[in-house]
Amino acid sequence: MSTATAVGLRCRECGTEYADNPINVCEHDFGPLEVIYDYPAVKKGFSRETITKRAFNMWRYRELLPEQEPVSGFNTGGTPLYHAKNLGKRLGFPKLYVKFDGVCVPTLSFKDRVVAVSVARAKRFGFETVGCASTGNLANSVAAQAAQAGLKAVILIPKTLERAKVVNTQIYGAKLIKVDGHYDDVNRLCAEIANDAKIGIVNVNLRAYYAEGSKSMGFEVAEQLGWRAPDNVVVCMAGGSLINKLNKAFKEFEKLGLLENEVKTRFWGAQATGCNPITDAIKRKSDLIKPVKNPDTIARSIAIGNPADGYYASRLCLDSGGGGDDVSDAEIVEGMKLLAETEGLFTETAGGVTVATFAKLAKAGRINKDETTVLCITGQGLKTMDALMEPGVLPDAPVIKPTLSAFKDLKIA
Ligand SMILES: *Cc1c(COP(=O)(O)O)cnc(C)c1O
Ligand SMILES: [Zn+2]
Repeated sequence: MSTATAVGLRCRECGTEYADNPINVCEHDFGPLEVIYDYPAVKKGFSRETITKRAFNMWRYRELLPEQEPVSGFNTGGTPLYHAKNLGKRLGFPKLYVKFDGVCVPTLSFKDRVVAVSVARAKRFGFETVGCASTGNLANSVAAQAAQAGLKAVILIPKTLERAKVVNTQIYGAKLIKVDGHYDDVNRLCAEIANDAKIGIVNVNLRAYYAEGSKSMGFEVAEQLGWRAPDNVVVCMAGGSLINKLNKAFKEFEKLGLLENEVKTRFWGAQATGCNPITDAIKRKSDLIKPVKNPDTIARSIAIGNPADGYYASRLCLDSGGGGDDVSDAEIVEGMKLLAETEGLFTETAGGVTVATFAKLAKAGRINKDETTVLCITGQGLKTMDALMEPGVLPDAPVIKPTLSAFKDLKIA
């Protein structure tokens, strides 16, 4: 079952190794499983030169992914890293960058990266149906990439998701099921389904493989900064997987001798105050996660009350010298507007969380203004327009007669 460079699984807690299999957690301690690589094998022929000769998408780093040949998500990744000069000027950060996964294909969020890897793995394991427990973006991506790979898809979501996330799942022909409960209820149900049925649930029994796809965002950031790890990364957290995998990506590049600098990145985690189990722990300087029972925020895509990787995410933020904070729904909308008005980039509510949290940390003087800081923007604004359609959020446009005098009466210019 192993591919050229990915050779099995290992428990992050006790180190027990497992052969490649669709399993959720370690059978001794329920610890999360990580994909093991044969790094000497990776190193052979994996240089800056070979990487840059390949197409600019996530597969150019295939030796460091659990699957080397895509069956879907053929052009996933390769998203822009913008030097955010306008936003940087506004907040006093000359070396501010925005990694924009709002244009990731096929479904406009960073989840396309994790799904591309896990669908390839599902196919290798012989699953005919893939599925997920989702807060929206994962649903969209599993539905689209199952269609690309010729697999069936069964998707479970909390019943309150945004309309755009529902439509962007059903259009691909996936079987969508709405669960009367929060994401954590959906996830628990999916764990039972994974034990019982022959379905490759990408974030349950394929989770170890799935999570590795997030590393490609970190590889790209480092390459786009001129083979350097940034000083600071700000990223919103749901289950807390992405933030850990960004760190793993920088560390793997360092291990393989691909970086100009030593990795000393400080990680800053962002959440919505209405669902902040990880930033609550970080602010208490603790790694003890207190689950949030009733998440209540417009940032639905990151509203996970009981985060699977919350412990590791809070440890990473604290141990790296970073930290974290959370923001209100009103601040999230301000964050979305701020990014759009300064950089011309429209992000979904989760990206608003990242921008608003960064602004808050910046104003409090927590992040050094002269350092390189990357904001990881993980999703697209067109998917969460509901949050902006509330009265008073955006101005009512004036309606005028089609005459020059009517236009002049507006006294615009
Ligand atoms: C899933 C998701 C995240 C965070 O993912 P985790 O790895 O679970 O922390 C961030 N942003 C968006 C838009 C997402 O859909
Ligand atoms: Zn274990």
